[in-house]
Amino acid sequence: MALRGQKSTLVITQFLFGIIMCLFLVIISLSSGTAAELQRFQHAAKEDGSLSVLVVGDWGRRGFYNQTEVALRMGIVGEELDIDFVISTGDNFYENGLTGVDDPAFQESFSNIYTAPSLQKQWYSVLGNHDYRGDVEAQLSPVLRKLDSKWLCLRSFIVDTEIAEFFFVDTTPFVDKYFKEKEGHVYDWSGIQPREAYLSNLLKDVDSALKNSNAKWKIVVGHHTMQSAGQHGNTKEIVTQLLPILKENNVDFYINGHDHCLQHISSLDSPIQFLTSGGGSKAWRGDVSWWNPKEMKLYYDGQGFMTAKITQSQVEIVFYDVFGNVLHKWATSKQLYSIA
Ligand SMILES: [Zn+2]
Repeated sequence: MALRGQKSTLVITQFLFGIIMCLFLVIISLSSGTAAELQRFQHAAKEDGSLSVLVVGDWGRRGFYNQTEVALRMGIVGEELDIDFVISTGDNFYENGLTGVDDPAFQESFSNIYTAPSLQKQWYSVLGNHDYRGDVEAQLSPVLRKLDSKWLCLRSFIVDTEIAEFFFVDTTPFVDKYFKEKEGHVYDWSGIQPREAYLSNLLKDVDSALKNSNAKWKIVVGHHTMQSAGQHGNTKEIVTQLLPILKENNVDFYINGHDHCLQHISSLDSPIQFLTSGGGSKAWRGDVSWWNPKEMKLYYDGQGFMTAKITQSQVEIVFYDVFGNVLHKWATSKQLYSIA
């Protein structure tokens, strides 16, 4: 009897130990977070293999501050270029994002503004710091996509066009000051906690997606500036954490908004071109710092937008002002077949 009692005690002890170990492992995996693949969208290029995109940022002001005029010009240029999709670099709705999926600002600042036929293409949008001051989940919600099918906003994702791959990165949670000096603003961080795990997983996801990419052109899109002579200047957190990954993986372009200007910086220490398209509505005239003229290809402190025409061998970018004037045109080419 005594022996059987000892045996059953041993079995129960082993059983309890097993349960405790399982719980321990579950807690460990939940707290550290696990990297997952970024959501991927396929968007075919045209039959001739080319792709044209239009990029606008920092726009949602119910048509004010020339938002309507920029939208009209986008429609005309979009028609001429037969654009395949639109990229929004964030700060989609001022001042404080959307209050919910039923916020009329969605119609007043988006659907009722970008009405030109050429703009009724898919929009791929990231969130800006102003969007994080509202109900973030609303902008990400499929409800908005039902209200207006051209809308698509996610935190971080990939658009694969085969010749070019676009890596959209959620940059706002990197910036310390939004957590430390909130200046009276309320941010919706509900989807990014715990922050450190969110950021380290995001960096891992971007790094592995870039490493696995066979695309001829690799283009990263985020809201915040990496290299900028504008009001906000460089965003140090993404310069130290994200830029090394872009350099290591031969990214061709980093495209952003945040500074309300149009800007092209061709830095001397990396082949990456830094492109700011943040002129969708209110612009900051004269708000510019000195920058090395060898790197600064364009700084325009007014409203406008950017386009990119991409083929296997060439990318041509063009910046337009609100009147449709070409402010800057720049092209780069690669061999049709890489030697590597
Ligand atoms: Zn911003």
